[in-house]
Amino acid sequence: MESVEEKGEILVKDVNMYVDETNLENEFESLFLSQFALLKKSFESRRISVYSANNKEEVYKIIDDFIEKRSYIKKISFSDGVTLYQLGLFDYMLDKYKNLNVLWPLRRSKSGHYYIYGERPKGRMSLPYDEYKEKFNLWYENIRDAHCSDLTIIGANAITLRGEIVSVDGLGNRVSSMIFGPKHVIVIVGKNKITTDLDAALNRVHNYAAPLTYIRHANKHYTKHENLPCVKLGRCVNCSNLESACMNTVIVRGQIHHHADRIHLIVVNKELGF
Ligand code: SF4
Repeated sequence: MESVEEKGEILVKDVNMYVDETNLENEFESLFLSQFALLKKSFESRRISVYSANNKEEVYKIIDDFIEKRSYIKKISFSDGVTLYQLGLFDYMLDKYKNLNVLWPLRRSKSGHYYIYGERPKGRMSLPYDEYKEKFNLWYENIRDAHCSDLTIIGANAITLRGEIVSVDGLGNRVSSMIFGPKHVIVIVGKNKITTDLDAALNRVHNYAAPLTYIRHANKHYTKHENLPCVKLGRCVNCSNLESACMNTVIVRGQIHHHADRIHLIVVNKELGF
């Protein structure tokens, strides 16, 4: 009778001798390294420095070194950003730099409302209008104040291998600070934000990042974004809905000579934000 080997069959107990086809760590690492090399070349030719980080501790170290070398940094601000939450950056910076002026105007309370309104019940804002308006005006002024910081730390919706940073913003504070305002800007993105070119970046922003952002706000911050077309249809239809925050699309494709030390990009070898 033919043995199993002669018939070319594989015994179940032999399976562990074969390569682990379920583990793709090396493949992902290799792709990230090639993409990062290209990003570095493209962005640095446009006067935007690029750093890679494998984890939040490496991100903190890059930021700490950056601040240490620039002793004039006294005022630091943040915009909102899931990536920054996932890196624990708000808590880290508030604790580490408590001797500096650290501004976080879009901070949220435990219930998901903006912190400035205090700890309110979950659901739509229920403050009397005058009190709400007064706090809203202060919130707005704080955002304007943050715009003149020495360093702002933000996320972005997409970056391209050609050296562009692409973001969409309703209020505009995040995207405008990339163009002008803060003396320095540190942009932090996970590797999932890497795209090949502007078409791919804009497609990512409108058909993926924007709808998810609206769903996040509707779920966690009681906004009315759940009725936007992209949330209902799963794709962008280029609407001009009153609730749409897709009003400002900014593409940063470099810095002028005088701004050569202004924008710094940290690409984290992890999936962060969306
Ligand atoms: S333009 Fe309108 S449909 Fe498109 S992503 Fe923005 S809100 Fe959604």
